[in-house]
Amino acid sequence: MTTLPSLAAAPWLQAPALRCILAVIAAWGGEVRVAGGAVRNALMGEAVTEVDLATTLSPAQVIAACTAAGLGVHPTGIDHGTVTVVADHHPYEVTTLRHDVETDGRRAVVRFTDDWQADALRRDFTMNALYCDAAGKVYDYADGFADIQRRRVAFVGSPAQRIAEDYLRILRFFRFHARYGAGAPDAAGLEACVEAAPRLDGLSAERIRQEMFKLMAASGAIPTLRLMAGAGILGHLLPYAEDWDVLARLPPDPVLRLAVLARDPLAMKDRWRLSNLEARRLEDIVCLTAPRPGLRPHEQRVILHQMGPQAWSDLVRIGWARSGAAADDPAWQDLLGLPDRWQAPEFPVSGRDLLALGMAPGPGIGEALRRLEDWWMASDFVPGRQELLDRLK
Ligand code: ATP
Ligand code: MG
Repeated sequence: MTTLPSLAAAPWLQAPALRCILAVIAAWGGEVRVAGGAVRNALMGEAVTEVDLATTLSPAQVIAACTAAGLGVHPTGIDHGTVTVVADHHPYEVTTLRHDVETDGRRAVVRFTDDWQADALRRDFTMNALYCDAAGKVYDYADGFADIQRRRVAFVGSPAQRIAEDYLRILRFFRFHARYGAGAPDAAGLEACVEAAPRLDGLSAERIRQEMFKLMAASGAIPTLRLMAGAGILGHLLPYAEDWDVLARLPPDPVLRLAVLARDPLAMKDRWRLSNLEARRLEDIVCLTAPRPGLRPHEQRVILHQMGPQAWSDLVRIGWARSGAAADDPAWQDLLGLPDRWQAPEFPVSGRDLLALGMAPGPGIGEALRRLEDWWMASDFVPGRQELLDRLK
C-alpha cells in the first residue's frame, strides 16, 4: 500500500479563516475534515480554489456552533446538509456526512451519518472521495490516491449502478476527465456511460448546462467532446457540427466553443437555459459580420464601434480559428488587440439637442440622430459637438 502524502504544509490549509472554522467545529465536539476537490487538487499539484468541509455535526449543530462563535452562517443547501460559513469574508461550505439511501436517477435521497467511509462511498469518483484533517493527514476510502497518480477518473463502486443513481454523473465523468484525466478514459466507466447515454434526455437543462460549461472550459475539452461524439453521447445533449480543428484553435471559453460546436447556436438559449448575456454573445456571433484582416483601419473602427468590444473579440477569435492562420499570426493579433488600443469617443449629441434646435418631437428625431452619427463615423469620429450641431442647422 502506498503511503499517503501529508498536506500539513499546504498554505490553503493554514489560512486563518479556515483554521478558525475547524477549531469552532472541533470545540463543539464535531469531527471535521476538508473534503473533495481541494484535497484532490492539492494531491495533484493543481491550484486549490475552493475548500469544502465535511463534518459529523448536524446542520443545526454547525449553525449553532458557528453562530455562537460570531461567524456568518447561511443555510445555502440545508436540505442536503450544507451550511455556508463565512469567516473573515471567506465562504466555506460545511456539509454533514451523508449516505445515500435511495435515488430516482436525478437526486439522491440522503441520510446524515457519522461514518466517514459511508460519506466517501456515496461520492462520484475515487479522486473526489478523499479527505484531510486539520493536521493535514489524508484519508482515502476508495483508493482515490492511486487514480490521482495515474490521472484516471474512475467511479466509486459499480459504474452502472452509480450512474443509475444520478445520470448527471455521465457528464461529470467526462468533465473530470477533460480537466484532470490523462490518456484514454477508464474503460469500465466509459462503457457504462455509453450504455446509459439515452437517459441524459431526462436531465434538467440547468444541470446539463452547468456541467457542460465546466467541461467546455477545461483544457482537455476538445478531445473529450470528440470522444463523446464518437461514443454517441454528445448527440443526446445538442445537435453538433464536427469542426474539431476549428474548436481546437479557440481559447477555453465555453460560449465561444459552443458557438462553433452547436449546429444551431441560437437554439441553445432555450435548450440549455443560457443567461441573457450568453445568449446575446451567441446571437452577435451568428448574426454579425466578422471583422477580417485587410479591412482599412477606419473601417475597423466603425465596425468595432457598432458591435462593441465583446462581439468584436468573439468574432475575431472565431474568424481567426476558422481561417487556419497560425496562433501568432500578426494580422489577426493586431485585429484582436484593437479594442485595447482604441475606443470610440462618446457620440456628443443627443435627442435633447435636436429638440433644443426646434425639431418637432417624434420618430424624425431618431432618424436625424442616426444620420448624424453615420456622418460622424464616416468622419472617423473626429467632429466634435459644435461641428455636429452646426451641421444640423
Ligand atoms: P470543482 O473544482 O469543479 O468545483 P469539485 O470536486 O468541488 O470540483 P463539485 O461539483 O463542486 O466538484 O462537487 C463537490 C464534491 O461533491 C465532489 O468532489 C464530489 O465528491 C461530490 N459530488 C458532487 N456532485 C456529485 C454527484 N452528482 N454525485 C456524487 N457526488 C457528487
Ligand atoms: Mg466544488
